[in-house]
Amino acid sequence: MNIKPVVALIGRPNVGKSTLFNQLTKSRQALVADMAGLTRDRQYGDASYENKSFIVVDTGGIGEADDGLGSIDDYMATQSYTAIHEADIVVFVVDARSGMIGSDEEIARFLHTLGKPVFLVANKMDGVHEASAAEFFAMGFGEPLPMAASHGKGVNNLLEVLTADMPEDEPSDETQDKGLKLAIIGRPNVGKSTLVNRLLGEERVVVYDMPGTTRDSIYIPFEREGRNYTLIDTAGVRRRGRIDEKVEKFSVIKTLQAIKDANVVVVVIDAHEGIVDQDLHMLGYALDAGRAIVIAINKWDNLSSEQKDIVKIEIERRFNFVPWVKIHLISALYGNGVGNLYPSIHKAYDASMFKVSTSRLTQILQDAVEAHQPPMVGGRRIKLRYAHLGGHNPPVIVIHGNQTSALPKSYQRYLENVYRDVFKLEGTPLHVEFKQNA
Ligand code: GDP
Ligand code: GDP
Repeated sequence: MNIKPVVALIGRPNVGKSTLFNQLTKSRQALVADMAGLTRDRQYGDASYENKSFIVVDTGGIGEADDGLGSIDDYMATQSYTAIHEADIVVFVVDARSGMIGSDEEIARFLHTLGKPVFLVANKMDGVHEASAAEFFAMGFGEPLPMAASHGKGVNNLLEVLTADMPEDEPSDETQDKGLKLAIIGRPNVGKSTLVNRLLGEERVVVYDMPGTTRDSIYIPFEREGRNYTLIDTAGVRRRGRIDEKVEKFSVIKTLQAIKDANVVVVVIDAHEGIVDQDLHMLGYALDAGRAIVIAINKWDNLSSEQKDIVKIEIERRFNFVPWVKIHLISALYGNGVGNLYPSIHKAYDASMFKVSTSRLTQILQDAVEAHQPPMVGGRRIKLRYAHLGGHNPPVIVIHGNQTSALPKSYQRYLENVYRDVFKLEGTPLHVEFKQNA
């Protein structure tokens, strides 16, 4: 397994980027269904073509107000700009109907400064003369690839050239899928690499060199006390050269990929900095993906006792919405508390994979209903009949009944908490879903 290449779609508004995005990703599941915070304005999706997979990012438009390119400065300041910097390849979409306009050239100049491969696509070629794309040649990205995205024309051709130099997907053989997959995520400089090295450097840990993996694989298999793990290293520890320089810049996309592939996510936070919004975004990504979670408040060394008190209060305030997440105070640098992460990781993993029979889930449901009846709706009481397990990591409990769509949120939370308590589900989100029986 490897981190997939990232392709960013860029261009003026209305040229057809999101249409192309939908064509490339088809019905594939988005990387993270509903992303919080800083990625709100972007769309991520998985795409693949002939055994080659990549991630597509729709960056939104440059120059939203069609007022020339004063707005490219604004654009550079936005997250979309970051998306382009995270991208390996850029697809520059232009509109063959409107022809080349000033902001296209402006974007072209910007793209030339990036030094990344750029594929130029002339969209909306349906109903215009073939020659109308020719003028875009002047922008210096070669012949534009003709396309009519809304008709699905030219998409395969783009995929063909786009993926030509991409690596083939590695077969997901057993050695690579074995064990608990653990992702270490967090903002830059919180201590991810230090923690990765500490986790792998422990005496009881045997790190394997995986046969057949490429050098830049970020999946590191290891064994500890008879258990197999794969560490997903978003910090790029393995890829650092002899000189201890950071080759890898922080990347949201890499973080999202790591979360998606992981069973358990350790969210690392820098105690010296306190808990900032971006930390909560990281946690939000893991929650959205339904992953088991452990929080590590790092750099717990050299804090005064006043500072420690302040951070502890902050922890209580900002993480009270996830009371089931275990929070560890650690020092990755000196190793304090790092060993204690393992039991919490296992607990979270086991909780996320727990198994239970339909009869037991139904019994618990009936007891819960008896203790506390659902409300009446239109003179009829909501009836909850039975429950079954619908999935793992995250666990999904599906409850069947009548008028379930009218069930108040508070009652849904009540049931979730009952199941949480009964099964001691520490460290994992729990999804309770309701199915209305006809
Ligand atoms: P974006 O702002 O760049 O993401 O553009 P959209 O994908 O939202 O497309 C803008 C408009 O152009 C929509 O009304 C699309 O239906 C239309 N459009 C997209 N692709 C094509 C195409 O190939 N041909 C034609 N005629 N219209 C298209
Ligand atoms: P990353 O960007 O999240 O991978 O962070 P690094 O692991 O590169 O750490 C960033 C800086 O924080 C480095 O200077 C580390 O030495 C330092 N650091 C990491 N963990 C600790 C810790 O537990 N205590 C202290 N005091 N410093 C730490």
